[in-house]
Amino acid sequence: MTSSVASARPAPAAGPASTRPVHIGVLALQGDFREHLRAVHALGGTASAVRRPTELDALDGLIIPGGESTTMDKLSRSFGLAEPLRERIAGGLPVYGSCAGLIMLADRVADPSTDRDGNPQQTFGGLDVTVRRNAFGRQRESFETDLQFSGLTSVHDGGQPAPVHAVFIRAPWVEQAGEAVQVLARFPGPPAPPDQELADPTGRIVAVRSGNVLATSFHPEVNGEHRIHELFIRIIRGEA
Ligand code: GLN
Repeated sequence: MTSSVASARPAPAAGPASTRPVHIGVLALQGDFREHLRAVHALGGTASAVRRPTELDALDGLIIPGGESTTMDKLSRSFGLAEPLRERIAGGLPVYGSCAGLIMLADRVADPSTDRDGNPQQTFGGLDVTVRRNAFGRQRESFETDLQFSGLTSVHDGGQPAPVHAVFIRAPWVEQAGEAVQVLARFPGPPAPPDQELADPTGRIVAVRSGNVLATSFHPEVNGEHRIHELFIRIIRGEA
């Protein structure tokens, strides 16, 4: 791992915003962090695995990968990472979370799992949303679909960005989002059952942004869909 290199790295030289190099940490306690490291490298950024609190020091941004949020919660607490991470996110560190990463960034989990003593899983927070885990149900444990996604710049034929090809794996959705949260993509699924007060008749929220925090229910890191990582890099640079 190159993680120790990250803390020794000199501060990036000031330059035009669009050329400023960025160094991104990827939380590597569990899950598909390698795919995120690859995606950042493919875009010309540098990235390193983060497992220790000191590895948070020199980062321009952090990615929380897909995986299993309950395991990430437990490991981050036992590695002493949870508190420093919470503080960095609250302090404005740009963060992108995919799938389990979205759950870890949510301020509220609708259906948290509980440990043996009945304590609910914890998150780092930072996003004023309520997420529902495994929300698409057993029938749709994993599926792929094309989504309209706001805020992408790469323009294709006809002047519109092509839809994002999104891979969902036991994915959460955002059931409720605070006023400051921008909805970037919805999954145009069937309306929610009438007993769910927070049902959104226009579709399920699957991508959001609030300030420096970006999150998706799906996994752009697994299928070469680099435009979400590109957007994250633009957020880090203050260009989006
Ligand atoms: N269902 C998982 C969780 O609750 C997330 C799945 C994923 O990241 N692909 O953490």
